[in-house]
Amino acid sequence: MKSPFKSLETKLIHAGEPEPRIQGAVAMPIFQSAMFQYAGETSYHDLKYIRLNNTPNHVALHQKLAALENAEAALVTASGMAAISTSLLTVLKAGDHLLAQNCLYGGTYDLVTRDFPSFGLSYDFIDAERPETWKPLLKPNTKAIYVETMTNPLLQVADLEAVVELAKAHGLISLIDNTFASPVNFCPLELGFDLSIHSGTKYLNGHSDIVCGAVLGQAALIQRITHRLNHLGGTLDPHAAYLLHRGLKTLALRVRHQNESALKIARFLARHSAVVRVNYAGLESHPGHARARQLFAGFGGVLSFEPRGGVEAADRVLKTVRLPIIAPSLGGVETLATRPALTSHAGLSPIERRNAGIADSLIRLSIGIESTDDLLEDFDQALGG
Ligand SMILES: *Cc1c(COP(=O)(O)O)cnc(C)c1O
Repeated sequence: MKSPFKSLETKLIHAGEPEPRIQGAVAMPIFQSAMFQYAGETSYHDLKYIRLNNTPNHVALHQKLAALENAEAALVTASGMAAISTSLLTVLKAGDHLLAQNCLYGGTYDLVTRDFPSFGLSYDFIDAERPETWKPLLKPNTKAIYVETMTNPLLQVADLEAVVELAKAHGLISLIDNTFASPVNFCPLELGFDLSIHSGTKYLNGHSDIVCGAVLGQAALIQRITHRLNHLGGTLDPHAAYLLHRGLKTLALRVRHQNESALKIARFLARHSAVVRVNYAGLESHPGHARARQLFAGFGGVLSFEPRGGVEAADRVLKTVRLPIIAPSLGGVETLATRPALTSHAGLSPIERRNAGIADSLIRLSIGIESTDDLLEDFDQALGG
């Protein structure tokens, strides 16, 4: 479906809004009704019922989200993990094999390594920056390839063009978790990916008050995923749908500010004598910089850094910063800070973490929409001036 609206900013406000407006309402009303009067529907999936993902709140969101990445169709889900699991369990069936990036979001990694074997699904991990190593891992039953736009917490950028090429050459479905970029910075379907998946909990909603997810792609494939979601039941509630809809309207304003602010903060930290390393794809020193510059409109709001002085120094920084909230997750209006060794990567041993390039002293920041100058001043005082 081609959106009649041209630019992202306009789509965020106008795409998918009901026409005519419901009772003239300027904001999309919440349809807090589990079921709707029978109107002659002939298929189970068309009965109007919240779990079947077809209330007016769902329909409006699907159209708005699809427009953002120029997708034919979209589906919202109860969480990012619901979008990821339902998409993978639609494109894979028992006996199939998946190629997946070796540095996945923790929940996705656990799904693939702990749950997939019991569903009869096998997998191999790929080093997503070395395409020459992928082909030997292909099997006759390989059906899909799964990557993330930027990895957590080192912000590595996979060779995304090579992923699409391999998928096309071998008839694989290509899936990408586009959470870190958001539609403002990257539209994977335009590069040739089959499915673009989001944890809407992060940038799409942006206000740290709901959990939700989305998957975007061709209409026929999205319909298959919707039918599977109708059975699995990971449906977004209308009130959460309303909050996502409301949050989306400021997505471009938020993410553009976060792009700019994160880049300034990354540059400041990279110059600071109390910092030994900064990971941000917007820095020329980052190994993924050239690829990120070519593919993305911005480098996003997440960065990570190692203060000089190891874990003790990192803990001191986290205790002394005043503005960032020490909390997991990302993509909201508040600046958040975490130490991945204690949160997202606590399940790995110190040696596994070191092999993955994640120092125990590493601090991950998700930059919010506070004043950049206030944040810079705060990081400077926390690092000892
Ligand atoms: C948070 C996150 C998820 C999981 O999303 P939920 O909404 O928490 O289920 C998946 N992928 C990435 C990259 C994430 O940051």
